Amino acid sequence: MELSKRQEAILEIVKKEGPITGEQIAERLSLTRATLRPDMAILTMAGLLEARPRVGYYYSGKTPNKVIAEKLHRIKVGEVKSVPVVVSEHCSVYDAVVTMFIEDVGTLIVVREGGILEGVISRKDLLKITLGGQDIHKLPVGVVMTRMPNVITVGPDDSVWLAAKKLITHEVDALPVVRPVEGGDKNKDLEVIGRLSKTNITRLFVELGEGN
Ligand code: ADP
Repeated sequence: MELSKRQEAILEIVKKEGPITGEQIAERLSLTRATLRPDMAILTMAGLLEARPRVGYYYSGKTPNKVIAEKLHRIKVGEVKSVPVVVSEHCSVYDAVVTMFIEDVGTLIVVREGGILEGVISRKDLLKITLGGQDIHKLPVGVVMTRMPNVITVGPDDSVWLAAKKLITHEVDALPVVRPVEGGDKNKDLEVIGRLSKTNITRLFVELGEGN
């Protein structure tokens, strides 16, 4: 975040003298309170300054990057996830390719009865198998998918930052969003409740950039 010269001057004053009232800041800068109002609003909204009624402004101690980091840790996967596009592991490779086109996704999630996670299939998994010259109408996706327990997942209450970190670290395009099944094996029985892809992260990035 780029601060104007005046905003930087305000920050310096508050750092040294805070808590300090808007009136006093205006005096130090030989300006009116009305002139300063937009700057104070920006600095407060950005999280650099905090305001307390009848006390005044004080410095939050946060750098602009820290404010952004906090925001990204606060936004939950559940708020930005998409609906999962799922198939069964008996689905043919041919039908999986068709589903990818129809649903306009790059990753299919493989589930068994009850929506329990079994695996994931990416575009390249499907491309690779088509090179083998086998009958893709007969071949089930179960033979090409990445299977549990090797699937990287996130939970709805995890932060989007953690999800983005997993996408980058594991070099994958999407993560199933899951929750443990009640009464099931906590690590094995995961119910798929969404899909988090690089597109979700990019969309959020654009929205944050628009100041929403
Ligand atoms: P693409 O193959 O289109 O580049 P990915 O980078 O997502 O797409 O997939 C690369 C490999 O990682 C594929 O073999 C795929 O099955 C696997 N994969 C995709 N998503 C996951 C995931 N969430 N967890 C584990 N493996 C995954």
